[in-house]
Amino acid sequence: MIVMKFGGSSIESAEAIQRVAGIVAGRAERRPLVVVSAMGKTTDRLLDIGRTAIAGNLDGALSKLDDLRRFHAIEAGAVVSPQAEPAIEAHLESHFRELAELIRGLSILGEMSPRSIDALSSYGERLSSLIITEALRAVGVVAEHVDSRRVIVTDERFSAAAPLREEIDKRLAEHVQPLIDAGKTPVMGGFIASTMAGITSTLGRGGSDYTASLVGAGLSAEEIQVWTDVDGVLTADPSLLSAARRIRVMSFAEASELAYFGARVLHPSTMLPAVRSNIPIRVLNSRRPDIEGTLIVAEHQAGQSIVKSVVYKENITVVEVLSTRMLMAHGFLARIFEVFDRHQTSVDMVTTSEVSVSLTIDNTARLDAIVEELRQIAEVTPFFGQSMVCVVGDNIRYTPGIAAKLFTALESINIRMISQGASRLNISLVVDEKELHATVEALHKTFFSQVDEAVFA
Ligand code: ADP
Ligand code: ASP
Ligand code: MG
Repeated sequence: MIVMKFGGSSIESAEAIQRVAGIVAGRAERRPLVVVSAMGKTTDRLLDIGRTAIAGNLDGALSKLDDLRRFHAIEAGAVVSPQAEPAIEAHLESHFRELAELIRGLSILGEMSPRSIDALSSYGERLSSLIITEALRAVGVVAEHVDSRRVIVTDERFSAAAPLREEIDKRLAEHVQPLIDAGKTPVMGGFIASTMAGITSTLGRGGSDYTASLVGAGLSAEEIQVWTDVDGVLTADPSLLSAARRIRVMSFAEASELAYFGARVLHPSTMLPAVRSNIPIRVLNSRRPDIEGTLIVAEHQAGQSIVKSVVYKENITVVEVLSTRMLMAHGFLARIFEVFDRHQTSVDMVTTSEVSVSLTIDNTARLDAIVEELRQIAEVTPFFGQSMVCVVGDNIRYTPGIAAKLFTALESINIRMISQGASRLNISLVVDEKELHATVEALHKTFFSQVDEAVFA
């Protein structure tokens, strides 16, 4: 069997859903299981409705909710069969009634906890999975809806919950394998899960990819397919650089690194279950299904490529900590990290000099408190509006002279920090966001002007 995951833009309209239904129907002999995200930008819209409600604008929130209901009703109405319409209408009606109650509750409370954020955002995938099930049936696929919350079980870290592997595998065997054995196509919402106590949780933004690989690993799939809106994993984000090229094949390690350092195309944890069970992942374009996409496997002939991709993260904050007295004293770095740790703020990149330490963070929720504490032991300056740019490739570790190439490419750019990752698969640097585009462009030109056609399309 194979797992086929379709992202939000692949099911953003009736037309897109019909395209997806055709793709699934055409692969029936591979015995697919389908995982879907929320339709289009539904998750963003639900969260925006929640924020509107807690800001005290209940009417505004309910009116936005009504727009979202209408969007689902119209698109669903165009893809399900006339016989299925009353059932879908009843589902929409009950789900949106619950949502309206939830929104009223939030507006009274005036705040959203991670747990209520999950309750709210789960509706996107709950609705889309029901709609896609019927859209598949309408084209003759024997689809069967499975509520992912019965199968994907997590810990209680709401909004970024960690899956409980053994329990998931047990439940997949119990609830999903029998459907596949009976020749059916199970349809599951991605992203959503529940705790052992049955409370709705989520795997974090972009988490549907992770659902797909958890399910694929649990059911020993032949392949995990991630269908999205670009031709595969590319040498750069195509929304920043139109010259980006498709990577034909890459390793799990490269894909993990690339996802971790900002390429949105895959959730950073997606590779973990696939690595463990050694299941290939293939990234494909639902708008151009005949293109072979990107194959991600354990080992591959890297050919002549050194760098696979240039990725970036925006809105990074650099915190510079300066102390002429203390830095060399033992325990000083530990004290600095302890402050970040206590404020549950993770540090991504660190560079040190004799008198200073620079760190990057992307969550600034606790920055003021962190800076105040650090000022008791050192001079502290935050730099906002920074971007982290990272070049990734297995061969970086075996190839001398990469740093020289990189510095030559970036001659005219002011690099605030630079570091080679401990994995030695990447070199990361921090630049001001005004220089982000120029940096990515210059690096891309250096590493991808001439490429090995066996590795890049
Ligand atoms: P989906 O809704 O299918 O999950 P996402 O928006 O999460 O899609 O991810 C696909 C997007 O990732 C692409 O549209 C592209 O803009 C972005 N992206 C960023 N970096 C890369 C990259 N290196 N290769 C491909 N896509 C990338
Ligand atoms: N719908 C969720 C999100 O927008 C999960 C996903 O799309 O993967 O983050
Ligand atoms: Mg995604």
